[in-house]
Amino acid sequence: MGILAVDRMTKTASKKLAGTTRSGLTTPGPGNKATAPDRVGGRAGPAPAMEQVRPGASATRARVALFDFDGTLSLIRSGWVDVMVPMMVEILLDLDTGESEQELTSLVQEFVWRLTGKETIYQMMEFAAHVTKRGGRALDPLEYKRMYLDRLWTKIRGRVEDLRSGHATPEQYLVPGARQLLERLKAQGLRLYLASGTDEVYMKEEARLLDVSRYFDGGVYGALDDYKSFSKKILVQRILSQTDVRGEEIVGFGDGYVEIEEVKLVGGTAVGVATREPECRAIDDWKRERLIGVGADFIVPNFLGHAELMEALFASR
Ligand SMILES: [Mg+2]
Repeated sequence: MGILAVDRMTKTASKKLAGTTRSGLTTPGPGNKATAPDRVGGRAGPAPAMEQVRPGASATRARVALFDFDGTLSLIRSGWVDVMVPMMVEILLDLDTGESEQELTSLVQEFVWRLTGKETIYQMMEFAAHVTKRGGRALDPLEYKRMYLDRLWTKIRGRVEDLRSGHATPEQYLVPGARQLLERLKAQGLRLYLASGTDEVYMKEEARLLDVSRYFDGGVYGALDDYKSFSKKILVQRILSQTDVRGEEIVGFGDGYVEIEEVKLVGGTAVGVATREPECRAIDDWKRERLIGVGADFIVPNFLGHAELMEALFASR
């Protein structure tokens, strides 16, 4: 499929995604800007180019590519931040500590971002600690997670059902250019791994609906009930210990703190996906700053520039 075709579909998807936005509390930060009315439907014109953050960065020796799922490839859960953050702020506001909604929003955004890419339960554990610290009687973090997933489901249910029934195409809920990039990486001979902080039972189904599972010959991994038994860190360590791949032979793609950090910690190359959802046409400055802060070597607004990105990553190969 050509870029123009993807472009057209993406715009349709943008309207669809924006149309299901939950009204009510809004928060600055990732995802929120995307739901502002002036951005509904996306903007015309060429997508901005990839940004090389670290001069000389490349992935010429890469043998493995590690992908995050939500916000990096999949848009099915787009807008999750606008569900999680207001839910937490609402509960903290009810504790009447005298802190303003704005103060609580900043507090929540900070840890939600820092734990993005990690299993959802960690965000709920940190949230529960904040409730307790303020004299509240915190629920079990699993209860908060269920509450969040219930709220998120009302937002994304239509998307999943449309994909299942064939009323939506996978391309409508993929970050633009994602499939072309995956195909190029396969053609380059890399082994691909998909790892998500979303529950495995959901994300495996979503990867199947988006028709991307087949690219991941290294495996598709998500959060397990026993949250200590899987993490992106564990996966990276497993790749290093169970294969002959070395850290600098890993290239990671992600929109969250955790996957970028884990890849950088072992000496790999990291591509930060700072896409402004839901239209995915431009850079989200909030995400960009934070991804650079944690060590991203490249920043992309989407994968429509896959040719340029491949050239930058593998030029001398
Ligand atoms: Mg993500």
